[in-house]
Amino acid sequence: MSDPLKNLKPEHLFKHFKAIADIPHGSYHTEKLSDAILAFAEEKHLDATRDGAGNVVITVPASPGHEGAAPVILQGHLDMVTVAKPGVIHDFNSDPITLVVKGDDLYADGTTLGADDGAGVAMALALLDEPDLVHPKLYLVFTTEEEVGMDGAYALNYKQFADARSMINLDSEDEGTATIGCAGGTHMTSTLPIRRVKAKGLAAVLSVSGLAGGHSGDEVDCFGLNAVKVLADALCTIAKDIDFSIVDFKGGERDNAIPTSAEARLLIAPGERVTLDQMVNTLQQTFRAIAGERDQNLTFTLDFPEPESVEAAVLDPDSENRVLGALAAAPCGVVAMNRSVAGAVNTSLNLGVAATEDKILSLIFLVRSDRDTARDIICERVTRLIDLLGGTTEASGSYPAWTAGKPLPCLTPCPPSGRRRRAKPSYRWSSTAVSNVPFSLTRCRISTSYPSARTISTSTRPTNTCSFRRSNGLTDF
Ligand SMILES: [Zn+2]
Repeated sequence: MSDPLKNLKPEHLFKHFKAIADIPHGSYHTEKLSDAILAFAEEKHLDATRDGAGNVVITVPASPGHEGAAPVILQGHLDMVTVAKPGVIHDFNSDPITLVVKGDDLYADGTTLGADDGAGVAMALALLDEPDLVHPKLYLVFTTEEEVGMDGAYALNYKQFADARSMINLDSEDEGTATIGCAGGTHMTSTLPIRRVKAKGLAAVLSVSGLAGGHSGDEVDCFGLNAVKVLADALCTIAKDIDFSIVDFKGGERDNAIPTSAEARLLIAPGERVTLDQMVNTLQQTFRAIAGERDQNLTFTLDFPEPESVEAAVLDPDSENRVLGALAAAPCGVVAMNRSVAGAVNTSLNLGVAATEDKILSLIFLVRSDRDTARDIICERVTRLIDLLGGTTEASGSYPAWTAGKPLPCLTPCPPSGRRRRAKPSYRWSSTAVSNVPFSLTRCRISTSYPSARTISTSTRPTNTCSFRRSNGLTDF
């Protein structure tokens, strides 16, 4: 069968990519691929090791005369996501990936392609086929199980390349962009006890909807409105003129999604109906005026589901005060911008879910920062506020920040992309660097375990003639 990658350049890159695609290498099944890489290293007379977690490290001596240059780590991962389109029969333990070149794009036929991170591994290996390349001592580090929790990276013995001071992670997403930092985070769940009393009144349902929302990390720098906060502010304003009781309050779906809608069920005195209606109209105008273009579809809706008064278990006055206090005063959104990387957010949090149940109000936050200490300060602010209001807060699922180092001289700041704005600092390779550095590639967590090394994560278009493309409908490359 002819090789569809045969005429693609750089030749060595696509030779290695094809060899990788021919060997099944889903997560937990990377042994055969690492066997092949170890055999290739032996062929090149290079030191190579495989540890108990399956990670492979190849040590490449510096070019003659460059032994004094600081060693550099090139890192990628061996495993790939294994997904086939519905109806496609493919055994990821034995079948090679079928590669298809269409125009400028390289696809897999009906399955994930494995360019994540076969492209990164192939690029690192391709360097070994370039005898004229002048380089410092290199460590080619290929980790396992990145797609299922980064087990390999966690098990890696960093002492074996302790003399390296820079690492290039070959596993990024956006072509032409190098990432030099990434926020860490903590999930926070606050619980506020509430008491209820029976009350009678006209049932009113006040909701806010139509907000743009977005991802709490990628789109927090759009400064959009949070529906939970909007409704809380609206209720606090209404409370100055109308006596209402809260039956329940709910908004948001997940800690990492900016809420697009929220709803409060209330009881009011029947005589207040017209006043409430007028206030809600005014509130809609007010919030649209302060909303940016992004949230111009913000809509308040007021319904009266029953014509007559009803009885309901409402929050008692003390609980209502504490619930409105927590919702209105909880910090939310961008807390601080990065002082050294223009346009990048340093610290933020999202109040992603707020909901009353029978005896509690629960609030779920996701706090992010590119510094763990800043993240912990914000967590403490939330904890102290909820504590003052008689509740408790628990943190869980923390993951560490990758603090942006000083940008390399070959990088220039990346302007916001519009469609996909990121809360992490991005830089572009200058055009000279692109021609010299044919690496493609991702996110990097290793830097957090290996803080003494300066780290970037990058992806560039590997060639003028071909790009790796995601197959339609599949969740990864
Ligand atoms: Zn990857």
